[in-house]
Amino acid sequence: MNNNSNYSPGVKRYVEEAKKWLAEQAALKERAKGWRFDTIAVHGLYSLAESLNRNQGAIIEPLYLATSQAYRDADELEAALAYLIPTWCYTRITNPTTYYLEWVLSLLESYKTGWDASCYVTSSGMSAIVMAIDPFLVKQKTGPEKINFVSSIQLYGGTYQLFSLRRGQERGIEVRWVLNPHDLEEWRAKIDEDTRFLYVEMPSNPQQAFTDIKALADLAHSWEIPLIVDATCATPALMRPIAYGADIVIHSLTKSMTSGGTAIGGALISRKPITTKIKNDHPLFKESFAEYVKLLPGRDHGPSPSPFNSFLTLLEIKTLRMKMDLLSRNAQQVAEYLQKHPRVYQVDYLGLPSFRYHELAKKYMKLVDSDDGTGKEVNRYGHLLSFRVEGPPENARKVFDRLQIIFRATDLGRIKSVATIPAISTHQQQGEEARRLADIPPQLIRLCVGAEDPVDIIADLEQALGSI
Ligand SMILES: *Cc1c(COP(=O)(O)O)cnc(C)c1O
Repeated sequence: MNNNSNYSPGVKRYVEEAKKWLAEQAALKERAKGWRFDTIAVHGLYSLAESLNRNQGAIIEPLYLATSQAYRDADELEAALAYLIPTWCYTRITNPTTYYLEWVLSLLESYKTGWDASCYVTSSGMSAIVMAIDPFLVKQKTGPEKINFVSSIQLYGGTYQLFSLRRGQERGIEVRWVLNPHDLEEWRAKIDEDTRFLYVEMPSNPQQAFTDIKALADLAHSWEIPLIVDATCATPALMRPIAYGADIVIHSLTKSMTSGGTAIGGALISRKPITTKIKNDHPLFKESFAEYVKLLPGRDHGPSPSPFNSFLTLLEIKTLRMKMDLLSRNAQQVAEYLQKHPRVYQVDYLGLPSFRYHELAKKYMKLVDSDDGTGKEVNRYGHLLSFRVEGPPENARKVFDRLQIIFRATDLGRIKSVATIPAISTHQQQGEEARRLADIPPQLIRLCVGAEDPVDIIADLEQALGSI
């Protein structure tokens, strides 16, 4: 909220009136904080009162497609556009359907973390990443010309391109790659006074690289910089990085959050406050970073989601926890089958004790609100796995081409099983050397296990592997 001392009495009346709505919303947030994960996922801030008093009693959050809001008079218009009162002024900035989605995500991501959070939903995962990093890559009045950030090299292909080409080559920002994200010493050696943030994807797509988030967050904070974590593959049902010190969490909502595969979307969720030494005059920058990005740079850059996509994602999130549980259990069975197959020389899955990130993942990947019988949450390792086919790359292509139930697509986190060969698809653009460093050989097939009966998925793999 801006300082409103220079505004007319009419404008101030709207500011007073808005306090009632703000208090109601604050009460709804407090109420939701007392609930368990599934209840938050189903209800969010959409209460019975919200439904009956403002939305014709609609039992599901309505889809507001209108681009803008009408105002009662000039005073209300002025108050809204100065951000003195909450407003749905224009869908590029705010929209009621997107608002409900932002609050569900913010509450789920901060669930049992001990922190409050805010959320900004964007048109795609990539736009959430750009919007998250750019505010830290600004020139400061005093300070060096040459700035850097440190990132794990195990990244989604698009993120790698954004960092290395768009920000590195085109804008002259130094990207310092960490090759082994689990090695804290490597991170430590790459940070200096001019480092603006640390960035890690976890589990990474497709390698499932993992890091000790807590130790990494402590390291970032010792330099007074934020840790940004892309936790798309985990979702808040399996891991909430804010609990371990992460400042900003990124999601591609396109993936498991909208597992039906009908919408592109992204989310930037920040804890309140974030750690940063960037000087920015706006109080929200540090106190509620996601809100700052939404109301200021977001307004000017315009990566807003379609309310229709927000609506689709909102519906799917209601059953997120049970879906992540089921997909993880199916993936575990499929991984165990593949591991025993003679034509497969390596299976990477966080749930396999032989996988190098298993121990770290065991510490962090747990089904929220589950109980193993002794009061501890059970481990669930997600839907993403990869396997490497014996012999030349042609063999992997043959197996891939023979799949009959599993869809061939560069997609991830679907309710149906989907496979791709990352070296020729998602990670094609980055070139052979970068693929070698990121450990993505052409023999590697990425498989995201869906909700089919795993017996049928295993049978499909069995016949496909039988072709070589
Ligand atoms: C897909 C993906 C992204 C990019 O998200 P889009 O919604 O496709 O823009 C970012 N990070 C990870 C881990 C992803 O899988």
